[in-house]
Amino acid sequence: MSQSAPLMVNGFDGSGLSGLPPQTQELIARREAALGGAYRLFYERPVEFVRGSGVYLYDPDGVAYLDAYNNVPSVGHSHPRVTEAVSRQLATLNTHTRYLTDGVVGYAERLLATHTIGPAHAMFTCTGSEANDLALRIARTSTGAAGVIVTENAYHGVTAAAAELSPSLGANVPLGVHVRTVPAPTAGSDFAAGVAAAIEDLRRHGLGVAAFLADSLFSSDGVLPDPAGFLAPVADLVRAAGGLYIADEVQSGFGRTGSHLWGYQRHPGLSPDIVTMGKPMGNGLPIAGIVARQSVLAEFGRTSRYFNTFGGNPVCVAAATAVLDVITDEGLQANSLETGRYLKDAISGLAADRPILADVRGAGLYLGVDVVSADTGEPSAELAAAIVNGMRDRHVLISATGPRGHVLKVRPPLPFARPQADHFLEALTDVLARLLLPITLEVRLFIGVGDAEATALAFGLQGQEFPRPMTYQFMASLVAAAGSAVRSVRVTRVADEIFYAQVTLRGGAVVDARPSDAINLAAVTGAPVLVASALLDRPTDPRVMRS
Ligand code: PMP
Repeated sequence: MSQSAPLMVNGFDGSGLSGLPPQTQELIARREAALGGAYRLFYERPVEFVRGSGVYLYDPDGVAYLDAYNNVPSVGHSHPRVTEAVSRQLATLNTHTRYLTDGVVGYAERLLATHTIGPAHAMFTCTGSEANDLALRIARTSTGAAGVIVTENAYHGVTAAAAELSPSLGANVPLGVHVRTVPAPTAGSDFAAGVAAAIEDLRRHGLGVAAFLADSLFSSDGVLPDPAGFLAPVADLVRAAGGLYIADEVQSGFGRTGSHLWGYQRHPGLSPDIVTMGKPMGNGLPIAGIVARQSVLAEFGRTSRYFNTFGGNPVCVAAATAVLDVITDEGLQANSLETGRYLKDAISGLAADRPILADVRGAGLYLGVDVVSADTGEPSAELAAAIVNGMRDRHVLISATGPRGHVLKVRPPLPFARPQADHFLEALTDVLARLLLPITLEVRLFIGVGDAEATALAFGLQGQEFPRPMTYQFMASLVAAAGSAVRSVRVTRVADEIFYAQVTLRGGAVVDARPSDAINLAAVTGAPVLVASALLDRPTDPRVMRS
């Protein structure tokens, strides 16, 4: 990898703090003080939400954000049927799984009937991490081996055992000595060959193969669903080495891929030994679990005791049962397929004449779009971040993923339908229009160089130098078209009557400006303005914030 993986893709780095309303800045400071440094927020300018409904989230001012990112509320935020089922059960009984309750058994039977791995049992946990942890214990017991194979930028969870299987957590989170990574299944690569090499390496080190563990959509590796079928030979290799195939369906399960309820079912001939699932299972309530072949589970069941206090409790099972009902009754899997295709085709259409969008991949409502430099064709995490933040500024939520952080991750709740897809595409088109200008024109601002008329701009058109003085009016209209290039404007009082301004561009460059030009620029571009409280008696712009 020529570029190291960012610690967190689309993480808030503080750079956009000054552009946020004072109450948001205060909440961020309190959060950091209370929760500490390991937590991360999304976006250059983090968002606060107070309510969700369907495919929308609402900020404290009641502004609706279109959710094209969240797969946990997969049947829709605050779905009334889930809310009703949970409320009813909570008011009736909630207990652990050492008593007989009908709900957990009925749900397990329903869940098992959806899988295609032969006679199996279901076991419940609270999180996807716990599900992978449990699957690993079962695999080790069943095989007597220790080695585990995962992809180069896999993520499988937060427990100590799951973090050791999660290279995407970064270089500071060590992988287990029993873990081998294989290159992700990118187009044209020989994925099975990588797995064969890892198997051989584990064998030589005397570790043996307990399991191959993979997210069926390779989400953190950059969303790599195709060509369906490439996983079946991998399962054969792993089994021939004595190991198990564990399909991590935390991302790809519950109808996400549209064509099937489970991501592994997209791959003809693939029948995992253990399937782990989570996230969308309870539409936000903490329920996760595994489905494992009976033959694989037999030894573990004989020799181990399993009890997970909250795992599969009646309230979470009520949520999970309602989720299955809603997926069926509202045709959400079919919607995922149909809307996913529509969105993928439309984004491919946009990519056709926008050089910064390269490959568009996806299955159902899980899309990955490669973002690259128009000049070099190299992956560009910076441009991806600019698109993600540009969408956020237009109240549409997405994120980015992949080892180089350059893959747009579009993964809305499943009721996301045609009108929302059109809304999404409108926002994306606008973001790209504005972004493409600074990208292809490489804006360099020299504001406040002379008097009003003489304010100048130098442009390089796709690498070609065009040093040409322009009037402020012309500059303003150009910048208006490239508005999202401007991140924020800061005005500082140097002395009485003497002000000094700087314009921060998205790439991080800071440009000196005359205060009036800077404020005008902010007005044209919509960038937030920061001034020190003593500065302006009368803010010249209603959006000027005091700090
Ligand atoms: N596996 C995959 C593929 C995941 O994406 C995640 C969560 N992002 C997990 C496991 C862990 O799930 P949880 O956060 O519920 O522990």
